[in-house]
Amino acid sequence: MKAIYPGSFDPITLGHLDIIERGCRVFEQVIVAVLRNPHKTPLFSVQERLGQIRQSTQHLPNVEVDSFEGLTVNYAQMRQAQVLLRGLRALSDFEVELQMSHTNNTLSREIETVFLATSNEYSFLSSSQVKEIARFGGCVDHLVPQHVAIELYRCHEKNHLK
Ligand code: ADP
Repeated sequence: MKAIYPGSFDPITLGHLDIIERGCRVFEQVIVAVLRNPHKTPLFSVQERLGQIRQSTQHLPNVEVDSFEGLTVNYAQMRQAQVLLRGLRALSDFEVELQMSHTNNTLSREIETVFLATSNEYSFLSSSQVKEIARFGGCVDHLVPQHVAIELYRCHEKNHLK
């Protein structure tokens, strides 16, 4: 079975990577799909995020990295994927994710959403929290892949020079 793991990944965290690695054990192929959202102002461009995810998933042969625009179910159909993979952290995620999976189910009956519960150590972790820590010069080495941490430190330095 082929699964799409959609999200913003601005930037990819160790929590995302944990879901990708575990998803790879369940599904034959996992397509990590960055949503191109014109209404959001991300820290990293889509191209930068694709590069970060590719570098982070080099060790996983059944991962493909791509970007898409519009409805996730349309993209899934186009890629002939049967599953949308999502991660669940806390109860707060549950409500939003449940609503989204119901909506997606009304749009396409053939596509199922499968949730993986986050590993304990990443249950508090979000991309926005990582950005907030980096903005104030904090250490993010334990939260994101090494090369992403370096890019975040660079962003912090640039902002200081402005
Ligand atoms: P979105 O903008 O769609 O919320 P994110 O990049 O924040 O995109 O998240 C993509 C998916 O990864 C979502 O299903 C989210 O719940 C999940 N996720 C985010 N952070 C973690 C984490 N620390 N552990 C497990 N899953 C996570």
